[in-house]
Amino acid sequence: AKGAGRDRSAVFDEAMRDEATRILDLEADLRRAINADAFEPHYQPIVRIADGVVLGHEALLRWSHERRGLLAPGEFIGVGEDSGLIEQVDWLLYARVIQDMATAMTEGYVSVNVSPRHFRSADFADRLLGLLSDANVDPARLRIEITEVALFDDAPRALRTLSNLRSHGVLALLDDFGTGFSALSYLHHFPIECLKIDRSFIAGLSTSQPESLAVIRAILALAGTLSIDTIAEGIETEAQRDALVQLGCVNGQGYLFGRPQGRAAT
Ligand code: C2E
Ligand code: CA
Ligand code: CA
Ligand code: CA
Repeated sequence: AKGAGRDRSAVFDEAMRDEATRILDLEADLRRAINADAFEPHYQPIVRIADGVVLGHEALLRWSHERRGLLAPGEFIGVGEDSGLIEQVDWLLYARVIQDMATAMTEGYVSVNVSPRHFRSADFADRLLGLLSDANVDPARLRIEITEVALFDDAPRALRTLSNLRSHGVLALLDDFGTGFSALSYLHHFPIECLKIDRSFIAGLSTSQPESLAVIRAILALAGTLSIDTIAEGIETEAQRDALVQLGCVNGQGYLFGRPQGRAAT
């Protein structure tokens, strides 16, 4: 059989080399794509789940790759983060999003994702506010999605950044909530508008995992107490939507309501 006779470590070395080459190729591709501004936002509606009324959209990064077609972040975000290139990609994307907001989208808010490392950079808030003011877009129409890592990693700085943004109207959503540290006692110290309940718990609803139900209940109760909004992520079925409505969850997003779509398609 193929590979017979080679010892395990040789096979392993080869696999490591292939992986290293793949990453270097991807990184070089990514640099070229940054120069070519080859990124575009796809928009997924965020809705009131009981009746489907659209409240806003989440902008999701897509890379229009010259040979491989449209790539979702899962295929390159790791390399983008390790190389630090994700920041440049993000700024290109935010510029596109804000341009769309200025020219095409009139209804509701748009939320953009911010990687934790990017959020930490000192001029993040001012640069974002600068883009908005250059394009004459009301900052209150833009929201940012950050994760718990971004908050707790350098809490004083996170607080300054969030306060600066909020004083101009840019609200913050906490993404993938329930999967991270969930240092609940800290939550009320930060100006957070909304918790996005991670998709894994919504998926757990359809397999009626009691833990998922318990986590969603707990998050909704916590958010209610702190007067923070919630958005359930990854709603794919009517059964999931109905269960969430029963639990008192008001807002959500997921394939049931709409997949991410490019501007040309919307
Ligand atoms: P996320 O912020 O949690 O985004 C939600 C992901 O779930 C998106 O994947 C979306 O397409 C997918 N999704 C939405 N509804 C459903 C559903 O009903 N079922 C299932 N199975 N999936 C659903 P996507 O677009 O591949 O993005 C993956 C992750 O990449 C995002 O997770 C976010 O962490 C990151 N990302 C996306 N755009 C950006 C960006 O502009 N900048 C940065 N730094 N990260 C981004
Ligand atoms: Ca997100
Ligand atoms: Ca999420
Ligand atoms: Ca995620």
